[in-house]
Amino acid sequence: MAVSVLFRHPSSLEHDTGAHPENARRIVAIERALSERDWLGWDVRESPAATRQEIERVHPPHHIDRIESLCRRGGGMIDMDTLVSEGSFEAALHGAGGAVAVVDALLDGGVRCAASLHRPPGHHAEPARAMGFCLFGNVAIGAAHAIEAHGLARVLIFDWDVHHGNGTAKIFHDRDDVLFCSIHQSPLYPGTGPASDVGSGAGEGFTVNLPVPGGSDDAVFLSHVEHVVRPLARQFAPDLVLLSAGYDAHAEDPLAGCRVTDDGFAGMAASMRATADELGVPLGLVLEGGYQLGALSRSVVASLEVLGAAGTPPVPEVALDPLAEQAQERLAAYWSTLA
Ligand SMILES: [Zn+2]
Repeated sequence: MAVSVLFRHPSSLEHDTGAHPENARRIVAIERALSERDWLGWDVRESPAATRQEIERVHPPHHIDRIESLCRRGGGMIDMDTLVSEGSFEAALHGAGGAVAVVDALLDGGVRCAASLHRPPGHHAEPARAMGFCLFGNVAIGAAHAIEAHGLARVLIFDWDVHHGNGTAKIFHDRDDVLFCSIHQSPLYPGTGPASDVGSGAGEGFTVNLPVPGGSDDAVFLSHVEHVVRPLARQFAPDLVLLSAGYDAHAEDPLAGCRVTDDGFAGMAASMRATADELGVPLGLVLEGGYQLGALSRSVVASLEVLGAAGTPPVPEVALDPLAEQAQERLAAYWSTLA
């Protein structure tokens, strides 16, 4: 088995957001921490730019054109939270391309684990709307690529960013080939992702929202992974697991109020690694948020260390949290394994 592969690209640093919390120092901090550890032995590669065709699997052409032309004019604000500079379009193309490259490495390259560490992040980007620091839905573009270019039948996306991945959710809301599970603080930006939203049409039951209150710690997050996400994954039996990995649920993060630690992220990574191993499928990680540079870089290192380690990591034992139990009860109507 080939070593794990990490995709990055210098264009991530050219998405100039000034004093914004989502800034280039995030990638600099992560890459410094990884390089100090010799990149954990991962094979580091430059991400290609995603093609129009790859991005158009989830975004209409006018959405791509609008971002491209705004960047060509030197940039500007898209909404209160989201801005672009001249270099942002290129950065966004490589961010999406990194997710596509992760999927290609996992499905063609015989690689067991791959990660895409880019900015801007992607999980808030809706089909026709950039928002929440996000321009293109990177992880969604990766999942769509796995299904349409590689012919996979089912993809599981687990989003542990502290904010609801409204963009990813919207893109796959009515589909049963992508199971989208999101654990997120509620109430919090963007205000979507209630427990009652389970998807629509053929996708009913394939959107799983796990809202948790501010103050939620490792035990709460790990309990949801162990007692909800893992059983769902076993029953869904995906061909690929993708993590939409934000690190802003960290106790030190300034943008939210959860209390996850470095070990908590490593624990979630271990659970998901073990799940993918059990199912005999590869696992990819796509970076989302995380705004406290020390916490972000330490937690990325901790997760990648677990994901890339040889063999299946031990899964943390965790009690059934009352909120995870409620999630089991409401989702049992769609997933017999939770009954
Ligand atoms: Zn976030």
